[in-house]
Amino acid sequence: MRKYVIMGVQGSGKGTQAGLLAQDFDLVHISVGDVLRWHVQNHTKLGAQVRRIMAAGELVGDDMVESVVRQRLDQHDWNYGFVVDGFPRNRRQAEFFLEGYDIDGVIHLHLPDAEVRRRVLARRLCSRCGLDYNLIAHRPEVADRCDVCGGELVSREDDTEEALATRLRDYHEKTNPVLDLFRRKEYVFTVDARPERAEVQQAIRQQLGLPR
Ligand SMILES: [Zn+2]
Repeated sequence: MRKYVIMGVQGSGKGTQAGLLAQDFDLVHISVGDVLRWHVQNHTKLGAQVRRIMAAGELVGDDMVESVVRQRLDQHDWNYGFVVDGFPRNRRQAEFFLEGYDIDGVIHLHLPDAEVRRRVLARRLCSRCGLDYNLIAHRPEVADRCDVCGGELVSREDDTEEALATRLRDYHEKTNPVLDLFRRKEYVFTVDARPERAEVQQAIRQQLGLPR
């Protein structure tokens, strides 16, 4: 049984790395974002709450995230283990998590803020079909035009320098206490998230002592 937590700022490739790890080692990838989206799409009671919160432009609270993760873990469908992504969000949750589950390691994908800015500010979205682009990794064939539908590519509304600076500050403020707690227990494996994804994945496996 392997039980991991993965942490990383937006743009660090956290979801991708968790997915690759889960796939090869039969782990369940528990992504808070995905679970919340599932509830919204399937019109559950929780989904309705989440929809209201997001419509008001607010973030889903820590308590709600905690209950979502608890419910998901209580399904006990993780015979070989899990990778939790998007949780814990604060110290209290981290403590609860350490007490309740025998965590084998916390994967911390480290990406310097300057690189986060470079990656996030390169994101584009087709204004017609919604396809995602990235001017670094996935360039359109014709500048500013969608390869699929020819629609104009635009930045996301909240991908401005200013909004990103706020998000980064919030991220560090929230994450640092959690990381400190995990570090004291010597659970943290820090991996450089700058190389390409296959290389990052290999580094994660090496650090965790997993076969490549
Ligand atoms: Zn398009």
